[in-house]
Amino acid sequence: MIQPTAKLTPFGAVNARVNRASDLLGIKENYRKLLTSCWRETKVSLPFTDDKGEMRVYEGYRVQHNGVRGPYKGGVRYHPEVDLDEVKALASLMTWKCAIVNIPFGGAKGGINVDPTKLSDREMQTLTRRFVYSVKNMIGPYKDIMAPDMGTNPKVMGWMMDAYGLIHGYTPAIVTGKPVNLDGTPDRLDATGLGVAMITRRVLEDRKEFLSGKTVVVQGFGNVGSFAALHLHRMNAKVIAIGDVSGVVRDPRGIDVEKLMAHFEAKRTLVGYPEGEFATREQLDVMGIECDILVPAALGHVIHSGNMEKVKARYIIEGANGPITPEADDYLGRQGTIIVPDILANAGGVVGSYFEWAQNIQVHHWERAESKLELDKFMSSALLGVSAAAKKFGINYREAAFVVGVDRVYQAAVARGH
Ligand code: GLU
Repeated sequence: MIQPTAKLTPFGAVNARVNRASDLLGIKENYRKLLTSCWRETKVSLPFTDDKGEMRVYEGYRVQHNGVRGPYKGGVRYHPEVDLDEVKALASLMTWKCAIVNIPFGGAKGGINVDPTKLSDREMQTLTRRFVYSVKNMIGPYKDIMAPDMGTNPKVMGWMMDAYGLIHGYTPAIVTGKPVNLDGTPDRLDATGLGVAMITRRVLEDRKEFLSGKTVVVQGFGNVGSFAALHLHRMNAKVIAIGDVSGVVRDPRGIDVEKLMAHFEAKRTLVGYPEGEFATREQLDVMGIECDILVPAALGHVIHSGNMEKVKARYIIEGANGPITPEADDYLGRQGTIIVPDILANAGGVVGSYFEWAQNIQVHHWERAESKLELDKFMSSALLGVSAAAKKFGINYREAAFVVGVDRVYQAAVARGH
């Protein structure tokens, strides 16, 4: 989640970054207006009957931020704190993210202000179908393609595809991140985490360092954190601690991430893992563990004014969306911490989505090795572009990522004759 600042809402905070990039690029006021506003903002009421037979109403949103580079693309989030401003901020971030990795999509985001952990499977499915029905005319495989985000998963995507198909006919490319046995791809599942690992390796190389033997701490063991840890481990980094809501597993010799994943798969918690040491969250703040690379890969604003001084990592790779508050970001920047921003670091997810969409459209399945190679190509060339902008303007990776994204969208807008 994106932290509002004293003066700015989440969307305002993203636009402050867009304006700063526009300053550096010399973009004039009329185009800035185009880049800092959303093309379409939709709010829908979602009435549905719960398992007790009671009628409930939730609010759903789909915001299409900017489509000059292609169909709108972005996830749908189920979270009790979802509101329009935050969805606008996240939609805008998708615009820049897709441009940074140079895939032919614009940016969108959706959400429902519901706590998915309190819904039964049937309730979740009913609400999902109602949402798709409510936005059915603004989405489409060449219009706006949805995907998972916080609180949603492949199962929900399968229901979305079915709901859309009941109205428009068989259309797998309407949504990505689908179950593998329903036109999904095995590569999408770990694409975000694999992309995090790939970008970490490339950032180190960019700074004349190597990943092999570097110590890594990962916060979050969900879809992003677990696969980021796994792939960093496979690339010979030493994952010395992994934390989530259940506590922290720590092993200075390096955690066997495959083993920990198998334990988590069976027990749904880190508790009880037989190797290394275990500490509760109260006993040990994972953010303060000394390491080379810290990967916050769960919720937003987990590094904030209250714990930023404890952070000892030299590199922070943002696996989650918005894990560092603006205040902590400034502080850590001044301390010399190298921060790789979410719109670059976790972009492997939407690149994986692009591959899934392309395969659905082509009705052709790629090989796993081919996808991995392609993902590395997209992540590496994104880093090259961001690194070049950082050097050219003397700015950090976050500012440089915005410069690359904003410039590509601006150039496309001009080329369209806007
Ligand atoms: N929700 C993910 C993100 O924030 C993935 C979006 C997508 O694959 O379209 O990047």
